Amino acid sequence: MNASLFDLSGKVAVVTGCNTGLGAAIAQALARAGCDIAGVNRSAPDQTAAAVQAAGRRYLDLRADLSSIAPISGIVRDTVQAYGRIDVLVNNAGIIRRNDALDFTEEDWDAVLDVNLKSVFFLSQAVARQFIAQDGPGKIINIASMLSFQGGIRVPSYTAAKSGVLGLTRLLANEWAARGINVNAIAPGYIATNNTAALRGDAHRNRDILDRIPAGRWGQPDDLAGPAVFLASAASDYMYGHTLAVDGGWLAR
Ligand code: NAD
Repeated sequence: MNASLFDLSGKVAVVTGCNTGLGAAIAQALARAGCDIAGVNRSAPDQTAAAVQAAGRRYLDLRADLSSIAPISGIVRDTVQAYGRIDVLVNNAGIIRRNDALDFTEEDWDAVLDVNLKSVFFLSQAVARQFIAQDGPGKIINIASMLSFQGGIRVPSYTAAKSGVLGLTRLLANEWAARGINVNAIAPGYIATNNTAALRGDAHRNRDILDRIPAGRWGQPDDLAGPAVFLASAASDYMYGHTLAVDGGWLAR
């Protein structure tokens, strides 16, 4: 294997929601591969910043609430001001709301769609404009879900948003491939983070989920490290519009 295919030295990655969970693991993996990181968070990303710096890379602390698209132009402006360019965007920030479809509220619908789909589109648009202004290639990695492929239960706005992420990944790839921009997604399976704490806390659901995972364990955030570096690197230059399941075999069942 040619290690330089995965080398991200000198690249700049914007990672949303990297103070915890999958985003933290992805930001750290990209930094270990050579990226400087601009992290977009609502609260202090202390551990992630320290880990990125320990890997010898720079960390830019951007604060934004992605439930609105208002901060998006500032995210791009501040990153370019600090680092001069952007090479990779990881749309990771996301939330989930659980309730029966019959009782689901408009507030729970809008909250999830705003963060998990609307901001994903408008941040991708803003960063793609920057890639084009730089006259260079670029990589966008969206974080999808098993619920991009399946219906799930009691998470109607999440399923709608993550199914939308899969479709949007294809659409943006179609429009931007000829401009040298790779848009792909990672669909994590069941990974042990805050997002899945309620499921792991329910003994019945926990057992049902574990019984169905061929790998026989919940994923860990670091299971996303290799796939994220792959999709950010030259190793995936001919991949466009693909949603890559990283799921312990869940979808193979
Ligand atoms: P998490 O709750 O630990 O992380 C979510 C991140 O998004 C946090 O950094 C949070 O601060 C950020 N975020 C949420 N709302 C935001 C807002 N309004 N503005 C800015 N940032 C905001 O959960 P996680 O599991 O690490 O989730 C990361 C992504 O992975 C999400 O898109 C989630 O839907 C997706 N995902 C997770 C799993 C899993 O099993 N854990 C599976 C499939 C997909």
